[in-house]
Amino acid sequence: MNTDEFDHKEEFRDRIGSVTEKGARNWIYALKPHGKYYNYRTILVVFYLLLFFGLPFIKVNGMPFVMLNVLDGKFILFSKIFWPQDFHIFAIAMIAFIIFIALFTVIYGRLFCGWVCPQTVFMEFVFRPIEWLIEGNPASQKLLNNGPWSGSKIFKKSLKHFIYLLISFIVANTFLAYIIGMDSLVKIIKEPLSAHLSLFLGLIFFTLTFYGVFAYIREIVCTTICPYGRLQGVMYDKDTMLVAYDYVRGEQRGKFKKNEQRTLGDCIDCHQCVHVCPTGIDIRNGTQLDCVGCTACIDACDFMMEKVGLPKGLIRYASENGIAEGKKMTFTPRIKAYTAVLVGLLVILAVLIATRKEIDTQIARTGGQLYQELPNDRMSNLYNAKIINKTNQEIPVELKVENLKADIQLVGKPTILLPKEKVLTETFFIILHKNDVKSRTTKLKIGVYRNGEKIQTINTNFLGPFM
Ligand code: SF4
Ligand code: SF4
Repeated sequence: MNTDEFDHKEEFRDRIGSVTEKGARNWIYALKPHGKYYNYRTILVVFYLLLFFGLPFIKVNGMPFVMLNVLDGKFILFSKIFWPQDFHIFAIAMIAFIIFIALFTVIYGRLFCGWVCPQTVFMEFVFRPIEWLIEGNPASQKLLNNGPWSGSKIFKKSLKHFIYLLISFIVANTFLAYIIGMDSLVKIIKEPLSAHLSLFLGLIFFTLTFYGVFAYIREIVCTTICPYGRLQGVMYDKDTMLVAYDYVRGEQRGKFKKNEQRTLGDCIDCHQCVHVCPTGIDIRNGTQLDCVGCTACIDACDFMMEKVGLPKGLIRYASENGIAEGKKMTFTPRIKAYTAVLVGLLVILAVLIATRKEIDTQIARTGGQLYQELPNDRMSNLYNAKIINKTNQEIPVELKVENLKADIQLVGKPTILLPKEKVLTETFFIILHKNDVKSRTTKLKIGVYRNGEKIQTINTNFLGPFM
């Protein structure tokens, strides 16, 4: 190979597919894929979109199924309210999530990006199909873009961008519904705009952001902006499963000639894998960070292989070792270690969620107060209780001293009624007979009851005289 040929072959190392030699944007005109993987992905995307747009409407016992109100610090998952007091659960969930991503990437590479990442799903299954529908195939799109501003071009471009803006607006509203809940969103829509101007401006901002991403930025999100995409390189090893070109079988590539005894490799150099690639790369150059694992090139190559009567799978899911040495995917010690940590974290998370209290009570003796002597050989201490109701129902609560005969006297009210989704502060006296106070501090166990059922036991002290 002479130097020129070598430079040309290695050109892909100089820049990403969406940048020209002069540093300008190289607009990617991807061909619509057809094939087994595209069909599977389409089925998955239908479920995905139904879930994404449908979840904010789902309620269980009057509670949204999911609500992530970062503005008020109120989070609802599986119709359970998580409060700032449950932050430890979120912290563990976040750690488990990060480890899961790392583990998943070590084993399956960019499977997430190609199959379930919202950027890929919306770009390849919502926005790009609209473009194919209005502007035609890549060749027609190129002609339209390079041609003069005729009536037809103005119509097609206006229609496409109007639909893009509309979808972006719907997506922005859906995200808002995840944050403030569908009920609040509907209420806001019915009220005058002037009452929610800042929210409306936020909505416009996110609409324009989504529109900008899907209409113009597109694959640059995956190839340049996304931090997960940038981190892939440090997580891959030679056993990581990737969309890979079988160079052992494919090289030396060369055009297919009918009725000719083929002496070259199986790659017929048809470039179909490049034409369908949404990031504009040639997978035959090897594993590249720009590859989002969308499988479009697998479908394209399988189609060509079938056409020329060669076995499918020249581009397929495989690891570097799998292709170089014909080895199967193995569980490396790194994968086993990640799996062990992940399983441990998931168990802790499940236990924390399962044992999470719907009512959480903290009781402490009121600071700076000593005991009080009462008639009939009795004495009292003053206490403060902070009771959190994490449900969306009013709940009557009763406090009882469990280990001694004692009275509890609430200050200013006969009973405790917890308002829904609120933190209640109560003050009360515990009254003991002097015979039960045998030392400076007497240990007390206070039971918290909901509808006669004990839900929590709190340990505290009763302060008596020095003895
Ligand atoms: S190389 Fe193949 S899998 Fe990777 S982004 Fe391009 S078409 Fe998708
Ligand atoms: S689609 Fe398959 S045969 Fe055609 S260039 Fe790509 S790898 Fe070679």
